[in-house]
Amino acid sequence: QTPAPKAKAVSNKDEKISKPLAPYKRQNAAMVALTRNTDLFGVRKTMREIEDRFNRKYNYPYIFLNDVPFNDEFKRGVLDMTSANVTFGVVEGEAWGYPEYVDKNKAKEAREKADYINGGSESYRFMCRFQSGYVFRHPLLKDLEYYWRIEPDVHYYCDLDYDPFLFMKENNLIYGFNMAPNEYMKTIPTLWDTTKEFMKKHPGYMAENNLIKWATDKEGEYNGCHFWTNFEIVKLSFYRSKEYMDYFEHLDRAGGFFYERWGDAPVHTLGVAMLLDQKQVHYFGDIGYYHPAMGFCPTDSRKKGKCVCDSDKEKAENYGCIRDWIKMYGDKK
Ligand code: GDP
Ligand code: MN
Repeated sequence: QTPAPKAKAVSNKDEKISKPLAPYKRQNAAMVALTRNTDLFGVRKTMREIEDRFNRKYNYPYIFLNDVPFNDEFKRGVLDMTSANVTFGVVEGEAWGYPEYVDKNKAKEAREKADYINGGSESYRFMCRFQSGYVFRHPLLKDLEYYWRIEPDVHYYCDLDYDPFLFMKENNLIYGFNMAPNEYMKTIPTLWDTTKEFMKKHPGYMAENNLIKWATDKEGEYNGCHFWTNFEIVKLSFYRSKEYMDYFEHLDRAGGFFYERWGDAPVHTLGVAMLLDQKQVHYFGDIGYYHPAMGFCPTDSRKKGKCVCDSDKEKAENYGCIRDWIKMYGDKK
């Protein structure tokens, strides 16, 4: 029997090679979704793609929020999809429902007259108001520095070989978007006037190099361009800032979340457009994406890259707001 070989003295060099790779140092960040129990399969599909394209390398945690408790089927179904940490939270109190100064009868009448998508829905309005002013204050997100908002039934077309949270940090970015369609103006008849009032009240809040030019037309009216917030990567201290919170409060008092159907997308967008410097906002033109109704495929992916979509069929440049963005500010990555 040959004796077991003696352990070799390990030089510094060998040690470095034989050590396991250091665990990845994540940012203080999470994937966050508000969903219903009935969204389970759509959520599982989204998670499968996020894990395959990105998160199995980084293991960012997930936070799921709901206005009623998640059931065991939902929790099990979601936990199956990832080895990352997952937490489930309930949205309570003033975060979901009417503020006391909103007239519920007037809100009901407005819903009955609203002949556009989700116009008649009360819960859709609670959702938009929650996403506009509350999600980043939820106890489960209290200490979180960045979030990446996700939704059921979306597609992430491309393999992502870097960490967008780290990218945000290294480049001092505060808001990241990928798609920017035009809003259906019937849902926000008075949002712009209400926003103009706010700008008049707080001229000192406006960022010097802000994005109002991108968000307005020749007459200086809101052009409807909005970051599609079903995907957004955000440094949450922005939403928690006095300036953004004052804007949300100003809008909430005006009642348009209920008397009209203000979406969180134009609200976030106008907040960003007024309060951030253009250099703090990043177009993730490389994160190919689809949310029911529309998507975009990063330019040239037909010939190279790591996407499963066809950039000749779903061009980012089909969207006027993206064309304007690139014309005004370029496409950096
Ligand atoms: P759309 O993207 O504007 O068409 O709106 P969605 O119906 O996709 O809703 C946006 C997100 O909020 C999705 O993740 C939904 O699952 C979630 N959501 C919408 N309404 C409710 C609701 O009443 N309760 C809960 N818990 N989630 C909701
Ligand atoms: Mn959606």
